[in-house]
Amino acid sequence: MLGPPGAGKGTQAQLLAEWLRIPHVASGDPFRENLRNETALGLQAKQYTDTGELVPDAVTIAMVAERLSRRDCGNGVLLDGFPRTIRQAEALDEMLAERGRAINLVPYIRVRDETLLERLAGRWTCRECEAAYHGVFKPPQRGGICDECGGEIYQRPDDTPETQKHRIEVYFEQTSPLIAYYRNRSLLAEIDGEQTIEVVQQDLRAAIEAVRQSREKGQTV
Ligand code: ADP
Ligand code: ADP
Ligand code: ZN
Repeated sequence: MLGPPGAGKGTQAQLLAEWLRIPHVASGDPFRENLRNETALGLQAKQYTDTGELVPDAVTIAMVAERLSRRDCGNGVLLDGFPRTIRQAEALDEMLAERGRAINLVPYIRVRDETLLERLAGRWTCRECEAAYHGVFKPPQRGGICDECGGEIYQRPDDTPETQKHRIEVYFEQTSPLIAYYRNRSLLAEIDGEQTIEVVQQDLRAAIEAVRQSREKGQTV
């Protein structure tokens, strides 16, 4: 899933992964998990996540490689928030090639800049399962409690106006070149992220179905 911070990647990825029955691997989650557990990786990443800078490629790539080597990834994964640099994209290509796998599709969720800030400013996150909520657009059914798991919802410390703005700048500098990278490989599916959560999800599923059908056709010809 490609798109700027606040585009709705996490929200959509959670729904899509359930539908596809594959794990949702969000690169921000292990950083927060390691920080909670006060591991060396967590402390190392904190200085970057706190300010909205990217964690260095080597650290991030090693973390994702470890995650992808676990058994539950055998039938595929939905990656959310990784890759975020060209170097990470190249490393991902290598990791997949080693396993005889490849990327099937890169959904790119396109949203206007004004919308990003509006979404990030109202974002609340479940402490337990990382589900995203929004004060206006997706309030939890019971105040302060996650609909999915009953966990407590909170505002991420890196969701301050300053870091939000900075994360968006970092995205345009370091991550947006991936749009051309994947478009050139005919893997990109552009999705209009300004629509409601449900309609964005329908468009994503349609894009995945289209890839499946063209592959099936390709196999019979
Ligand atoms: P958002 O949902 O706002 O896009 P994430 O939860 O994906 O944010 O990421 C939070 C922070 O974790 C980032 O600001 C960055 O510091 C770090 N991070 C997450 N993914 C990566 C990555 N692929 N490369 C480098 N840093 C990352
Ligand atoms: P990302 O993972 O791309 O940073 P999130 O999935 O965390 O984005 O969504 C950012 C915020 O916007 C959350 O508060 C979420 O509830 C809200 N949101 C996500 N998709 C939509 C949508 N289509 N319309 C309105 N709000 C949305
Ligand atoms: Zn939860």
